[in-house]
Formats: sequence, C-alpha cells, structure tokens
Amino acid sequence: MIEIQRLSKSFGSHEVLKDIHFSVEKGEVVTIIGSSGSGKSTLLRCVNLLEKPSGGQIIYNGENILDDRHDIHQYRRKLGMVFQQFNLFNNHDVLNNCMVGQIKVLKRSKEEAEQIARKYLRVVGMENYINAKPRHLSGGQKQRVAIARALSMEPDVMLFDEPTSALDPEMVGEVLKIMKELAGTGLTMLIVTHEMEFAREVSDRVVFMDKGVIAEEGPPEKIFNNPDQERTREFLKRTL
Ligand code: ADP
Ligand code: MG
Repeated sequence: MIEIQRLSKSFGSHEVLKDIHFSVEKGEVVTIIGSSGSGKSTLLRCVNLLEKPSGGQIIYNGENILDDRHDIHQYRRKLGMVFQQFNLFNNHDVLNNCMVGQIKVLKRSKEEAEQIARKYLRVVGMENYINAKPRHLSGGQKQRVAIARALSMEPDVMLFDEPTSALDPEMVGEVLKIMKELAGTGLTMLIVTHEMEFAREVSDRVVFMDKGVIAEEGPPEKIFNNPDQERTREFLKRTL
C-alpha cells in the first residue's frame, strides 16, 4: 500500500533519517519501536507529509507521491493520523470534532457526516459523550475521540504516533484495547509505540529504529525473542 524507498530527512546539517526502506501492505499492522530521538516521529511525519522528506520516494498505489505533479492533498486524505497530544478542536464538541474534516475536506453533507461520526464514536465507545467538550473528557476518552475522528475520514491507512504516551497509566489500557480491536478488523495501521507487550500482540511486523536508520525488522516473535542485532537486544533489555 505504501512503499518508502531511500527516504532521508535532515534538519539543517542534522541527518535525522538515513536511507529508510520499508513498506506497509494492505491490512498489515506495523509497529515502530526505538529509543527517543531515533527518528520515529519524523518518519511518520514524512509518510504523511507533515514534513517534507529531503530525499527518496514514497510510493502509494504505484505512484511516487513526491513527484511535483502529484496531488499531495489527495494522498494525505487517505491517511488518518492520531497524535500523542490528541490535537482535538477544543471549542468543538465531540460530535463536531468528528464531523468538521468530513464536511470541509471530503465535502460530505452534514447529515452524512453526522451518521458516519456517530458510527465511529460507537466503535470507540464514546457515543454517550457526543455533546461533551474535550476539556470535560479524560485523556483516554480524548484519545478515543481522536481515533474516531481519524476513522470518520475513512482513510486507507491509520498512523499512530505514541497514542498512549501522554496518558495516565490507568487510561492506557482502554486506548490499546480499541487499537487491538481495529487491528482485528483488517485496518492497515502504522503505529509508533513504547508499549512492547501491545506491539508483540498486534503487530504483523515490528520495525526497530536506531539513530535514524531501520536497524532491524521482522515478525514480533523474531524481534522480541531472537533479534539479530545487538542494538535491538540492548534496547529491549532497557525497556522490557
Ligand atoms: P523520536 O520520535 O524517535 O523520539 P524524532 O523523530 O522526534 O524522534 O526526532 C529525531 C531527531 O530529529 C531528534 O534528534 C530531534 O531533535 C530531531 N528533530 C525532530 N524534529 C525536528 C525539527 N522540526 N527541527 C529540528 N530537529 C528536529
Ligand atoms: Mg516521537
């Protein structure tokens, strides 16, 4: 579905991503793990073009979307993003948070947008909070709304950047549970996470990043039980 080739990204003289190759297949759940500062967020932000890659290609449905003639808005519409800090619209209630993008970007009617928003709010168990403002919700509830908002755009791929890192520990589980359920529906997901148990359970493939490169990738059993690289082992020893 998405193929990244020779991707690089520098901020000034600081090369943050070097020669990244990887792909996400339709229906696949890929998790990205690695130390803080290894480039995980930058990679995700390059994939959805919140950052402009310095070099390389992003092939989506057979086309290099970094080509000047390619419509990047069209592409970005196909990607849903969930951030660590929720990024909800604080002046809108829950239902509206899940409707504005649909109306403004996808040009859906209000009625259709509401119907779809309600559907995904049900999926994340937030249908009883549709008129609440984000400030009245817990962190876990906010993140579930953020997931419903992204799903309401019916993207081809969902990107998650440490969706539970800003949550109080007692709220991590409710968000991971929703993500596990989504993974079970065949949704294509690319997830940066520090939750190793979760990564082991849901991933089809785990990508370990270290200092701007993909140091190792493979099925979760392989990465967690018997990694090839010493630095993967070192990282896991520190986190597990
Ligand atoms: P991770 O998500 O794995 O913690 P990041 O992708 O956030 O890592 O960051 C990787 C490196 O890139 C870090 O050294 C960080 O300081 C740097 N970096 C990230 N964003 C920017 C930016 N906008 N400007 C300059 N440096 C950045
Ligand atoms: Mg990050």
